[in-house]
Amino acid sequence: MPYRGRFAPSPTGELHFGSLVAALASWLRARNRRGQWLLRVDDIDPPREVAGSTSAILAALTQLELTADAPPLQQSRRGEAYAQALRQLQGDGHAFPCWCSRSDLEAAGARHRDGRCISARRDDREPAWRLRVPDGDITFDDGLQGTQRQNVREAAGDFVLRRPDGLWGYQLACVVDDAFQDITEVVRGCDLLDSTPRQILLQQLLGLPTPAYLHLPLAMDAQGRKLSKSSDAPAVDTAVPRAALASALRFLAQPVPCAPDAATVLRVAARDLDLSPLRGVTARAGPSTA
Ligand SMILES: [Zn+2]
Repeated sequence: MPYRGRFAPSPTGELHFGSLVAALASWLRARNRRGQWLLRVDDIDPPREVAGSTSAILAALTQLELTADAPPLQQSRRGEAYAQALRQLQGDGHAFPCWCSRSDLEAAGARHRDGRCISARRDDREPAWRLRVPDGDITFDDGLQGTQRQNVREAAGDFVLRRPDGLWGYQLACVVDDAFQDITEVVRGCDLLDSTPRQILLQQLLGLPTPAYLHLPLAMDAQGRKLSKSSDAPAVDTAVPRAALASALRFLAQPVPCAPDAATVLRVAARDLDLSPLRGVTARAGPSTA
């Protein structure tokens, strides 16, 4: 199977440093393996979207010469595929409708765990659909973070596949599209390490292949907060592409090739890629703002 990696930004703002790190690492890994690198826009949550950010992110990637091998896949156009996956889970008895309000759920310890809704059926409104999560551990070997083990029922409970307002759950959309794009390895930040067992469980229930996973350290600010959560997480300055790439390469513990242009920097960095210094590292200081 040829290597296929991807970068899947959410259009909730411009490309910031943490996203650049994930984009660059996944691009380098794909090029190092002589594979393909695909883009996906995770635009399934319109209320959280910031107008113009999809085009701003894609333009920044282009300026940085992080070229993709196909046009980006937009999750907002993939509703029928997600509906098909939900129908499959419903047909196999893995999904159940939930009419709980937030306060109903809070009374029940804030999560479903018993594979059925605790609220009465309502005919006047649409239910959410949840996955009936079986008891038992999901384990996987992460490319940087080592062996991971999680009991999804304990950690997340019966999680949402589709919300009452028709919006799709992130885990379902991600799993359906990773399979659709034939992704063989997912390279992304450690903030999603915790989501991976839910995604593997969904792959197993849907009969989809499980890609390899490699979770990168998160960039932290000087106060030790996740950089992307800081109110002041600045957009990456792409005016000097070589400088932006150099700062992300240093974060990834890679030497910065001496080359005048971004394309050469990327080519050399991909050839020499060695992520082993990041083994077991879940967080690092981001770029200095000095
Ligand atoms: Zn419920």
